[in-house]
Amino acid sequence: MTTPQTPPHKLTCHCGAVELSVKLADGFNTARRCDCSFCRRRGAIAVSVNLGDLQVVRGADQLSLYTWGTHTAKHYFCSVCGIYTHHQRRSNPNEYGVNAGALEGINPRDLGDVPWAEGVNHPSDR
Ligand SMILES: [Zn+2]
Repeated sequence: MTTPQTPPHKLTCHCGAVELSVKLADGFNTARRCDCSFCRRRGAIAVSVNLGDLQVVRGADQLSLYTWGTHTAKHYFCSVCGIYTHHQRRSNPNEYGVNAGALEGINPRDLGDVPWAEGVNHPSDR
């Protein structure tokens, strides 16, 4: 993939209240969409970041947390503008998924055809 991926990436919400610094686990090779009841509504492309490779630079107090179902996954979003920034995964709690569209300098269109993850039939439900 030709998308630039010089780490670390700056990730911002829309209003700028929240800023994260992230190092992608495997560039954009991990980019996924998901069809679970939550992600299908959110509609974002997520990329993987290892748990230790995400820092909240600004706005930790502006982040809201949403959990549902088994309450294992932790979905964070900006409480001011509502933009999803990152979530701690249920399928792998040692990983975050981060909003590819919120990475500075990245146009999600350049990611091409992004594969779909098993959301409706979640691996943890089998
Ligand atoms: Zn915001």
